Amino acid sequence: MGLTYQRILLKLSGEALMGDLAYGIDPEVVRSIAQEITEIVAEGVEVAIVVGGGNIFRGVKGAASGMDRATADYIGMIATVMNAMTLQDALERNDVQTRVLTAIEMQEVAEPYIRRRAIRHLEKGRVVIFGAGSGNPFFTTDTTAALRAAEINAEVVFKATKVDGVYDADPKLNPEARRFQSLTYSYVLTHDLRVMDTTAIALCKDNNIPIIVFNLSVSGNIRRAVMGESIGTIVGGSCEII
Ligand code: UDP
Repeated sequence: MGLTYQRILLKLSGEALMGDLAYGIDPEVVRSIAQEITEIVAEGVEVAIVVGGGNIFRGVKGAASGMDRATADYIGMIATVMNAMTLQDALERNDVQTRVLTAIEMQEVAEPYIRRRAIRHLEKGRVVIFGAGSGNPFFTTDTTAALRAAEINAEVVFKATKVDGVYDADPKLNPEARRFQSLTYSYVLTHDLRVMDTTAIALCKDNNIPIIVFNLSVSGNIRRAVMGESIGTIVGGSCEII
């Protein structure tokens, strides 16, 4: 029924689950994100989610305070599993079937990541939540989102953020700032625009996966994006400003 995208990879940062808190998880925010996802699942969209962990722990911060970087990154990856399970719980309370698949095995609480299994779950209408990032230190969950999108043949990456899209200047500092309707991958890379990290952008570029950057806090935006409404900024087309 008018779906532009049948299979999506939704990237949620850890901070998206934090709401206005300084740390951790706001249950009300998680409930409302779960509600939005529930609505698109009901429309028949196959939804895979990569969730970050920045609301709990970031490897770079740990390393900055003297920790071994790889160890700190593993802690960050384990933090993402807590977020993944929190989302799973919220979705299942809405009667949405979900599976958490982790890149670091934790078989008591989640399935190990197996690509074919992930695809099968999606085909059966289950929401797949990828936890533990890529399983490798020195990577990010943005890069994981691009990687998993390519692996499961997602048509698009939805990068849900706290802003309306990508601007040519900081809209908080410059009232004249204009939002890009679309951008090329190369423009994002050469101008070092912080849409996603460069590894993630390069992976999407190489695999021709568009990225839609949009504001998660506007209710109904996930659905609008799935329906192909022009919200936020799409990376993957030509450079057009609104
Ligand atoms: N991380 C990692 N490898 C990955 C994904 C994540 O080492 O493939 C670690 C890294 O330390 C990162 C933390 O997990 O800081 C949390 O992920 P991220 O910062 O990407 O979360 P977000 O910013 O999306 O909340």
